[in-house]
Amino acid sequence: MSSGNNNNEVAMAQPPSRFEDVLHVLKRPGALAGDGFDADSGDDVMEMMQDSISLLVIGAGGLGCELLKDLALLGFQNMTVVDMDTIDVSNLNRQFLFRPADVGKPKAVVAAEKVNSRVQGCRVTPKHARVEELSLDFYRQFHVWVLGLDSVEARSYVNSVACSLLEYDEDGNVDPSSIKPMVDGGTEGFKGHARVIYPGMTPCFQCTLWLFPPQTKYPLCTLAETPRTAAHCIEYAHLIAWPRDRPDDEFDADNPEHMLWMFEQASSRAATFGIPGVTPQLTSGVVKNIIPAIASTNAIVASMCATEVLKIVTMCLRGMDNYTMYMGGYGVYTHVASYERDPQCIVCGAGIAIKTRADSTLASFRDALTSDSGGDGALPTDLRGKVTSPSISHGSSNLYMAHGPLEPLTRANLSKSLRELLFAEADMECERRTVTLMLNDKALAAPVRLRVTVE
Ligand SMILES: [Zn+2]
Repeated sequence: MSSGNNNNEVAMAQPPSRFEDVLHVLKRPGALAGDGFDADSGDDVMEMMQDSISLLVIGAGGLGCELLKDLALLGFQNMTVVDMDTIDVSNLNRQFLFRPADVGKPKAVVAAEKVNSRVQGCRVTPKHARVEELSLDFYRQFHVWVLGLDSVEARSYVNSVACSLLEYDEDGNVDPSSIKPMVDGGTEGFKGHARVIYPGMTPCFQCTLWLFPPQTKYPLCTLAETPRTAAHCIEYAHLIAWPRDRPDDEFDADNPEHMLWMFEQASSRAATFGIPGVTPQLTSGVVKNIIPAIASTNAIVASMCATEVLKIVTMCLRGMDNYTMYMGGYGVYTHVASYERDPQCIVCGAGIAIKTRADSTLASFRDALTSDSGGDGALPTDLRGKVTSPSISHGSSNLYMAHGPLEPLTRANLSKSLRELLFAEADMECERRTVTLMLNDKALAAPVRLRVTVE
């Protein structure tokens, strides 16, 4: 037997590692690698991905199932998945981690179980909770957050959490160690997006809120006078005929009699104008504003997101800068746009610089903010005199909550000095420090960051 055959036998006896393909990427130098990438450390990087990196996956629905699968198969082993929903039978066509027997169970729990049992070594921890219920310390423990959400509100909330963790120095430069990179995916029918957000460095969700325009509604005159589509006839029945003919009934889309009435009204309207296509299914879809969920759109967007997570963690390639739009309705058209931060963004901006003394009490600091001169003139003119009863927090600790059950619990802090509250552990002698405090008040649309330099 020749030595060549022997080598073949050895190769056959030892199958390649499960992550052979990922390792190829991690061990290959190239002009497109990110800053600091070292192809000689590929094995160490793989080990880090598996052992040290922990990912937060928010959402275990259509995108979340795909994300968990993709990330697990890339080699990420420590993940926590958050979802507030339970499994509905209508999810089963695309949320492939779920089976009919799982209907009614929490999505996060079932998704974690399925991935853990299928991918050896994977440790997905489920959290059946709303994103608003989780503490700052919970969020802080993860290296990268991956969002597979279907609502603007939930995205805004998670974005505000990531931005509230940012620390800025006196000059308004963000502390890189306070940044939690986020990868956000979203789909709507055949359309989708994937984006990478480094809060404080690249545009946050709030900076580009205009990317999510309010849902388009048909002009009432079109519905009333010149309907052209089946959807126009259904919206006519919904928005005009129902309040006209049944003013005392509150419309309930889950009431079969109401939906039948709606379908019959829309059908007769369509017959009058010779418009085809009104069906009970379409009536339900239009009235409930259901956008069809396409499984392959989720798969494409989730794969873009998972790839970006790999790039962020390993630097094997420069990441997406910073928003990819996918238009499945036109083939597989994609477009990458490099959006810019809004320098005035109240969520991710460096905030308002304020100087104060370490021996000031929290009460005097607060009173300076609420006076007409606004913290010795530090608050911008549009806030001066408007902020009347602010709550102040530092990281995850509430220094003073002006309202609710936390007020009596935090009241004692008002007479403490900032040195005592902020630097209990540190020696403040001859030191000058900048800390980030969050200020909230009913006069504010969102919490405002204060960059407080304490001397
Ligand atoms: Zn922003």
